[in-house]
Amino acid sequence: MDAPVDNAHGVGWSGMMERRRRRRVFHLLLAIGLVMLSLGLGWGAFFAWRGAWTVAAVELAIAALGVAVMVMARLRRPRAASWLALVGMAVLLCFFSAFLDVSTDAVPRTSHVFLLVLALCAHHVFRDTHAWLRYGVVVVLLVAFAVFAAAPVRAPYPFAIADDVRRVGIWVNLATAVASFLIVLRLAETDIAEHRALHRALRDALSHRRFELFYQPQVDAQGHVVGAEALLRWRDARRGLVRPADFMQAAEDTGFILPLGQWVLQEACRQLADWRADPALRHLRLSVNVSALQLRQPDFVQQAEEAVARSGVDAGLLTLELTESVLVHDMDDAVGKMRALHAMGVRLSLDDFGAGYASLSYLRELPFAEMKIDRAFTRGIVRDAHAATITRNLLQLGRDLGIDVIAEGIEQDDQFALLGEQGCRLFQGYLFGRPMEAAAFRQRMRAP
Ligand code: C2E
Ligand code: MG
Ligand code: MG
Repeated sequence: MDAPVDNAHGVGWSGMMERRRRRRVFHLLLAIGLVMLSLGLGWGAFFAWRGAWTVAAVELAIAALGVAVMVMARLRRPRAASWLALVGMAVLLCFFSAFLDVSTDAVPRTSHVFLLVLALCAHHVFRDTHAWLRYGVVVVLLVAFAVFAAAPVRAPYPFAIADDVRRVGIWVNLATAVASFLIVLRLAETDIAEHRALHRALRDALSHRRFELFYQPQVDAQGHVVGAEALLRWRDARRGLVRPADFMQAAEDTGFILPLGQWVLQEACRQLADWRADPALRHLRLSVNVSALQLRQPDFVQQAEEAVARSGVDAGLLTLELTESVLVHDMDDAVGKMRALHAMGVRLSLDDFGAGYASLSYLRELPFAEMKIDRAFTRGIVRDAHAATITRNLLQLGRDLGIDVIAEGIEQDDQFALLGEQGCRLFQGYLFGRPMEAAAFRQRMRAP
């Protein structure tokens, strides 16, 4: 087999940033949980000592919530922990402000000030999600703050906290709220600065032509190369050859995947045009990965049309690989675009089949020409009878639906042999060649 070409792994600079960010979120959640636990226990003990059992119970609930937030953070469930901390804190703060910390003529309410800190946290925690969630939660918290700030002074409930305690609480609450606000602001600033630096680095890489497409062979049952998958690499002087796992998430988060994906599409078509001039390569198909965000662009079909038209290649040689995630958001929109691409003559392939929540109905109703069996299934087929049954069934499914099935991640001869026996006709994996530079791929195709 040919020399491995894709061995140089980048140091994963953006991956490192992502890890740093995760660690920061983890520490922040632990700190929030700890503050909730200690405040809840401290005040709970105080109110129990004064015989104010309702207030003590609420304080203990805050402490319990703090423990839950810390456990969730430790279990590496930051999103669940953030939701728990935010929703729990919001409900408890509203309860506290409405029934326990009630403004009197002598002492104003102060607990509601924490709703401002919570709003800032929510805006940052949900910054990568939908605008309605990011701003919706903030608006709800700010409205709650305004309502408590404007609420008329009234006679407190019998179980409300007494004025003498609340008088001390004013300064404790305000000092804690201001300190928390500043800490959250600082953390958010650091986070945003790193996010921007990464976006800038990606943008510079694109404008300085530091992105490259590598090509991994796809072979038939005889081992003849029938096509290739274009796989993106970022070649950086300092970081080395960076693989998609280390920058794709950041490219998606910053929206940079859109110009980058457009470049990939154009570059792949340019490569196909290049191959057309070479008898050893002109029959090859080329597969390009398209992310869900890319497909969601209103002009995606037009971009594909332009890339094909400008390069003058046969649209039938271009395959667009989509994962099931494209169908999650706006299924009708995705289906419409897929039909338009199919009508153009472009082949569609369902990538990583079996890795997600693929439903058979997708395959039946959508114009896929191909499905790729995920490496998760092909990896264990030789030793695991269960995995082998799954691949056999998937291959049968492909035959029933009349679509090509390609097995990904083939590394060993016995995997190739077993899948061949099962009727698989298309393969991709290190056994046939790693992703390689365009020149190495061309050389390999010309070799006798
Ligand atoms: P994918 O589309 O499923 O690509 C297959 C991945 O498996 C590639 O990793 C490839 O190098 C690796 N691979 C192939 N054969 C073997 C094998 O025998 N053993 C093992 N262990 N791995 C094998 P790569 O290049 O790091 O790409 C990872 C993912 O990044 C791709 O998964 C794809 O989802 C995404 N990606 C790559 N290029 C692009 C691109 O241009 N645009 C978009 N949107 N996504 C891309
Ligand atoms: Mg792929
Ligand atoms: Mg795949």
